[in-house]
Amino acid sequence: MTDLYKQYKEFGITENVFRYCENVLDSLEERFKAIDKTAEYNQLKVLKAMQDARVSVECFNSSTGYGYGDIGRDKLEEVYRNVFKGEDALVRPQITCGTHALALALMSNLRPGDELLSPVGKPYDTLEEVIGIRESKGSLLEYNISYKQVDLIDDKEFDYEGIRNAINDKTKLVTIQRSKGYATRPSFGVDEIGKLVKFIKDIKPEVLIMVDNCYGEFVEDKEPLEVGADMIVGSLIKNPGGGLAPIGGYIVGKKECVENAAYRLTSPGLGKEVGASLNVITSMYQGLFLAPTVTASALKGAIFAANVYERLGYNVFPKADDVRHDIIQAIELKEEKALLEFCKGIQYAAPVDSFVTPEPWDMPGYDSKVIMAAGAFISGSSIELSADGPLKPPYNVYFQGGLTWPHVRFGIINSLQKLHDANLVIDSRL
Ligand SMILES: *Cc1c(COP(=O)(O)O)cnc(C)c1O
Repeated sequence: MTDLYKQYKEFGITENVFRYCENVLDSLEERFKAIDKTAEYNQLKVLKAMQDARVSVECFNSSTGYGYGDIGRDKLEEVYRNVFKGEDALVRPQITCGTHALALALMSNLRPGDELLSPVGKPYDTLEEVIGIRESKGSLLEYNISYKQVDLIDDKEFDYEGIRNAINDKTKLVTIQRSKGYATRPSFGVDEIGKLVKFIKDIKPEVLIMVDNCYGEFVEDKEPLEVGADMIVGSLIKNPGGGLAPIGGYIVGKKECVENAAYRLTSPGLGKEVGASLNVITSMYQGLFLAPTVTASALKGAIFAANVYERLGYNVFPKADDVRHDIIQAIELKEEKALLEFCKGIQYAAPVDSFVTPEPWDMPGYDSKVIMAAGAFISGSSIELSADGPLKPPYNVYFQGGLTWPHVRFGIINSLQKLHDANLVIDSRL
């Protein structure tokens, strides 16, 4: 019995479950090495961006009120611009979440009469109301901004002919979602996005291309602006906040796009000049500094979970051996009880609220009950170890995050232990 197992035993992990997971891990050495390499590359990218912007202790004197002349805020935007290779950036605690950042980017860069195109199928759930696919107050549709969508072929390939046909005089902005989010289509690699960007720009060079970058940051060594996108958008309580940023969103890209967003976020005439950084600016810097290694931990967790469960006969998306483009892992658990037990395993593995049992609830906007497990320092943070799933067949659980690799590893092992204890997974190895 190893010393490490002694720790696991304290949490009720049986020796067989521990050993099975150790064996899975042994086979992942090469893949984890590659992830560490990407993290190292991205760590230096972030470091260089901070040095080039001459970040200093003055940057942490956050402002209040109007926030005029807030050096820390302005430098943080310079750092983001450097990291993601844009002309300008808007990174603010006043951007409340990812949906807000995306809505802001869309509403500020589209005008009445324009058309928005999604060439990658249905966008993330919450954007349906932003766009007006589902009727909603203040949607783009209310402002006479129309929307077209081209679905993926077989839910995975770009429909190039369909996209060509969909682009017209009114097409002003194209939105590409990098991560599958909670759909079952694959997520797109940065180079794949680059191909699509080129195809669209060849047809209509002046069209603006926005990438919903949520969950994709630092997974690869390149980001979408480097392959021709005009604007990337994301949330600071996901990858780039590194688990430390307590709030915020970002838009990085062409100067004109970012300016439009700034005038919309604050006010025409004011733009980026106002917006106090409050007491969160240091965490935004620190979080970005940690983001490459935190993302690597989450990625290792996703791959580990896929391998642990696929080898026990479960369907997983992406597959155990698939190349990763984001940090989300889905596991088809097949029965309601298994979904509940899995989520208990994640909840009981948390540093915060480990003593509560997650209960399914009627979440607004969903057509079935949803269960969520999260014991996070930052409320709703999905770069921290978390799992959720709708209570309907095939009982998929979506699993993501993990600030440190040892913690994600424990969380996954604990989920399996819960399934095993409830006799929901019968396997001679356990
Ligand atoms: C999380 C997410 C969003 C929305 O972000 P919120 O912070 O939850 O509002 C949008 N798109 C994708 C792909 C996401 O993963």
